Amino acid sequence: MASFLDTKIEFLKGVGPTRAKLLQEELAIFTYEDLLHYYPFRYENRSEFHQIKDISETDSFVQIKGTLQSFGLKGQARKQRLSAQFVDSTGQIELVWFTGASWMMKKLRQGVAYVVYGKPSVFNGQYSISHPEIEIVTPSNEQTSNSYHPVYSTTEKLKKRYLDSKAIAKLVKALLQSPSFQIQENLDPHLLHSNELIGLKSALTWVHYPNDQEQLDKALKRLKFNELFFIQIKIFQEKSERKEKHQGIVFKNSHLVNQFYTDHIPFDLTDAQKRVIKEIYTDLQSGYQMNRLMQGDVGSGKTITAFICMLIAISSGYQTSIMAPTEILATQHYHGLSEFSKQLGLNTALITGSTKKSQKRTNLEQLQSGELDIVVGTHALIEDNVAFRNLGLAVIDEQHRFGVAQRAKLWQKNKNHYPHVLVMTATPIPRTLAMTLYGDLEISTIDQLPQGRKPIKTTHLTDSNRSKLFGFIRRQIEENRQIYIVYPLIEESEKLDYKDLMDGYESITRAFPNQQISIVHGKMKAADKEFEMRRFVEHKTQIMVATTVIEVGVNVPNASVMVIENAERFGLSQLHQLRGRVGRGADQSYCILMSGSKISKEARERIKCMVDTTDGFRIAEKDLELRGPGDLMGTQQSGVLDLKIADITNDGQLLKQAREQARTILEKNPSLDQYPILKIHLNTHKRQLLWSNIS
Ligand code: ADP
Ligand code: MG
Repeated sequence: MASFLDTKIEFLKGVGPTRAKLLQEELAIFTYEDLLHYYPFRYENRSEFHQIKDISETDSFVQIKGTLQSFGLKGQARKQRLSAQFVDSTGQIELVWFTGASWMMKKLRQGVAYVVYGKPSVFNGQYSISHPEIEIVTPSNEQTSNSYHPVYSTTEKLKKRYLDSKAIAKLVKALLQSPSFQIQENLDPHLLHSNELIGLKSALTWVHYPNDQEQLDKALKRLKFNELFFIQIKIFQEKSERKEKHQGIVFKNSHLVNQFYTDHIPFDLTDAQKRVIKEIYTDLQSGYQMNRLMQGDVGSGKTITAFICMLIAISSGYQTSIMAPTEILATQHYHGLSEFSKQLGLNTALITGSTKKSQKRTNLEQLQSGELDIVVGTHALIEDNVAFRNLGLAVIDEQHRFGVAQRAKLWQKNKNHYPHVLVMTATPIPRTLAMTLYGDLEISTIDQLPQGRKPIKTTHLTDSNRSKLFGFIRRQIEENRQIYIVYPLIEESEKLDYKDLMDGYESITRAFPNQQISIVHGKMKAADKEFEMRRFVEHKTQIMVATTVIEVGVNVPNASVMVIENAERFGLSQLHQLRGRVGRGADQSYCILMSGSKISKEARERIKCMVDTTDGFRIAEKDLELRGPGDLMGTQQSGVLDLKIADITNDGQLLKQAREQARTILEKNPSLDQYPILKIHLNTHKRQLLWSNIS
């Protein structure tokens, strides 16, 4: 039975086929339910009339009642505007329309009383309101209403069809007042009670038409809770399903770990590394399939930690893989790991997009026959033709560059069992975000840097200090250190960016005629990049000029200076990643952020944050605060954080509450028999595809 909410929007009074099509295309509103969930983005407070004489610049919106004295077109033909003089008993104000003037001209009536609502602005001491809302005074708007009026975002196309905010508000009202309007509650009364939530029907009514702030707050709380709660329910349900369905391979041996640890490891592990290895080892013996996120700041030593975990799998006769987001990084892992694995008599291969065909064929054969113990690679690893004999542990480095779907794809690589999955990220994730984004993953944190690391000294220089910068670089090179100089590369202005990069490269070659200089950027062939990278790694070059292709993971301990050009154009997490390329040895390292002198307030805050702290978690929190979660780590694109109304930055407390509630419900009563209303809701709403289901 199609319910009221499933009714096509076309059938709502005042919509019809043409507008329905527009609403679908522009706002993805297909049904009554979609319209109901199309929330206002702000509210107008119509609880008072302002007097014109009291209007000041600080008023964001004013409502006035008065008379239209005169109106007419002003200005030159092309820039013509409609200007109207509006008066009340206390003064006069100008109303202006820059577009739609002729249409408004026909509508306005001189000498008639109107209610006007809009945002006042002041120019040369004269107040005006452009594009105000204007309505002839009627008995219904003559009195101030106590209520908030909803404002909806809309598009130019919709406005052309007279579907402006007001029209949408009318449609919503029609819906709410429809005699057959009903909402199926989806939380049981005791859940509402214990979480101090109002009913769904009131919430959906009040979010559009609250009488006051209190009603609005209650409505928002309920709707946000719903959104967060159902995500968490899904996460926990899938997690336990996966535990039941996918038994984990149990690794019984670990002799290679012992051998590596006693004979080959080049340094002592930090306590944090040891703890994380233990956490992972416990998972690997638990009989459940592991899905764990290992987070640790740049330079905290994730690679070797992962390698030791891989040895656990190999000790028991299984294969392992490590997947990295770029060829450079994959190659570097390959070189690093093959050194260790040779000592242990293990076979390692590299598979990337530019692996030669014949080589790749051999690799694939050996992978299938089980000859290879470790395969390192890029996305190429998840191609369909890559098959393992028995993949036991899949490691993914720098998670945020991989789509969640790709992670899922790796799981299919083993026919009998899902392999254990270890995801590594250097972008510390604020807890609130981790709970939502990685709710299906356990989290291990390496919260300690290897001994003897000195915090990187960070300074901000403006372009006028360039000679100072060059002097500093020169002295560092004299001390045998190596230097990175990084330029931004933003796709929209790619051409200009390359020009910047090449100009920069030239000026560096001129300033340092006796030094060898590498250059790496995205347009180079992989082999050339690789060649230049290696020259830098082997200290054949002193300076590396690059775009952000070197951002992630690259490890050259002798490099001690990171210069970031146009630092104002980088995001915080990117800056932190880049800075993490230095400070990897025992020497004092430096990060120098270059920028023009005129930069935006946010850019200044980002740079200040970098200068103030090297703590990745604090930086991540700040990033979240400045940008909001949508942008973070490409989550928008992966669709994981499709939140309509809740906001991870500000609703952390509610998220916690929702998560706790979801967890306790499912723990105490997995069948949900004690929550019949919730149960019906979950059963009738077909489960949306969640990432871990993609495979
Ligand atoms: P990240 O966590 O950023 O991936 P890496 O794994 O690349 O860091 O490690 C950074 C550097 O620190 C490497 O040169 C690595 O060999 C070294 N390293 C890792 N663990 C330790 C340790 N416990 N003591 C000293 N150096 C270490
Ligand atoms: Mg790394």
